Amino acid sequence: MPERIYNFSPGPATLPYSVLQEAAKDIVNYKDRGIGLIELSHRSKEFMAVAEEAEQLIRELLAVPDNYKVLFLQGGASSQFFMIPMNLLGEGKKATYLNTGTWSNKAIKEARLFGDIEVAYSSQEQKFNRVPRDDEYTVAPDSEYLYFVSNNTIYGTQFKDMPRADCMLVSDMSSDILSRPIDVSRFGIIFAGAQKNMGPAGVTVVIIREDLLERAPDNLPTMLKYKTHADKGSMFNTPPCFAIYCVGRVMNWLREQGGVEAMQRRNEEKAALLYSAIDATDFYRGHAQKESRSMMNVSFNLPSPELEAKFIAEAAEQGLDGLKGHRSIGGCRASIYNAFPREGVEKLVDFMDRFARENG
Ligand code: PMP
Repeated sequence: MPERIYNFSPGPATLPYSVLQEAAKDIVNYKDRGIGLIELSHRSKEFMAVAEEAEQLIRELLAVPDNYKVLFLQGGASSQFFMIPMNLLGEGKKATYLNTGTWSNKAIKEARLFGDIEVAYSSQEQKFNRVPRDDEYTVAPDSEYLYFVSNNTIYGTQFKDMPRADCMLVSDMSSDILSRPIDVSRFGIIFAGAQKNMGPAGVTVVIIREDLLERAPDNLPTMLKYKTHADKGSMFNTPPCFAIYCVGRVMNWLREQGGVEAMQRRNEEKAALLYSAIDATDFYRGHAQKESRSMMNVSFNLPSPELEAKFIAEAAEQGLDGLKGHRSIGGCRASIYNAFPREGVEKLVDFMDRFARENG
């Protein structure tokens, strides 16, 4: 393996090295057939098998029930902010949203174009440093769904348990899908951009309960109806072939690692290491309140912006890259998704200890 830096980037993010190697080989010569993977027709037998395998592995790893479709769409996770309300709401229809950060805020703005949106909770005034307990919001009666972001990538907060609601749940799981087991049957729709826990940017995975495919109003553009993509096995038009291939390889790697239960254990251990380094001194301050802490994105501050800049620069010199926090809150952020190795977290924790002693 060449010298690799530890990449703490929030996404696109670090991928398993074995997957990168496999992809590098397949791009040039897929299964020794004398043709590169990204030259294959999406309707070829070979690529159809690639897409089928990726779907089956997602189904297996997340125990997706048979009455759900798994779709590979484009337009980024952000396009789901409008596709969901376009397909599920309309004149006089209501949905409830929990506002726990930038990504829910954006989803609320889009949803308001298509339905009656109730925001039942917001932690905006506390700089989104927490997610709600079940007793802190009321789902509006007649809501078609309760929408929430399971992991808030920027603020480093995460729902430990899925929210309580009588209606179906709809969730943006872009930054924590496949990091732990979930009960898919409680959801109408789960979606995630691939570029954190699943592969490269370019594909959005949407898991949707089949009966919802029939809800879309007739006047929606064809490409914006889930049914269009579901009916054609995500091949209504040319899909993002390379990204889908990579998702399949990452899913295969995940299965070899022991699946989502094993991944959850490892993610909990990695996060615990990092949070104990933050809690060990007053030098570091975690952004998220303790009960809301994310296993995937650890956002924290140092005593001053100058020290934060120094920390990020010195860390980078040690091969600890991508620790700059999001521009909306500043500070530092370590993203430690499934494929992020434990050794990288150990190295960061050692560096944090040394940096605090030298600069505290
Ligand atoms: N939701 C969450 C939770 C995210 O973290 C992001 C991107 N970082 C998005 C949505 C937007 O994803 P995309 O760039 O694929 O539209």
